[in-house]
Amino acid sequence: MSTHALGRRLADLARRQAAAAARHAAVNAAVDTEHEKRVAFLMMVPEDLRMAVGIALSDPDGDDALHSWALWPFARWAVAPAGFQFPRALVEWLLARPHAWFLGHHCERCGLGVPLLSTDSRDPSPPPSIVVFPTCPACGGVTSHAANWWTEPPP
Ligand SMILES: [Zn+2]
Repeated sequence: MSTHALGRRLADLARRQAAAAARHAAVNAAVDTEHEKRVAFLMMVPEDLRMAVGIALSDPDGDDALHSWALWPFARWAVAPAGFQFPRALVEWLLARPHAWFLGHHCERCGLGVPLLSTDSRDPSPPPSIVVFPTCPACGGVTSHAANWWTEPPP
């Protein structure tokens, strides 16, 4: 092999290694971002309930609605205040999940997501109301389905 051909091969190898390193760095950055988000979420869970929430979320056959809540605990227009802690009543309800539920209501004031009960016409004993938290367990604001769809915080 000529020196020139060897030089081309080495340059090609260096290019491919650089491309692989860039792909690896991009994957690591995505994993780190997800990890940071999950840690930030868990830090908002009251400390004594944190382990139970972490275990519930790591169950691959776990509650889909709980995963939805963990991904989007607040409406998209809302930002969790610094040092925010999820209200114990909400976290305990979500861990016990006494009824099938979905993330259907949000607080109109702080944007916290709260459950609505899932039911249908075949339910032999339908709940009198699907609303679990008519007022926000964090701030006392009214919860509504509409607050989920707002694009910006209320004035
Ligand atoms: Zn609230």
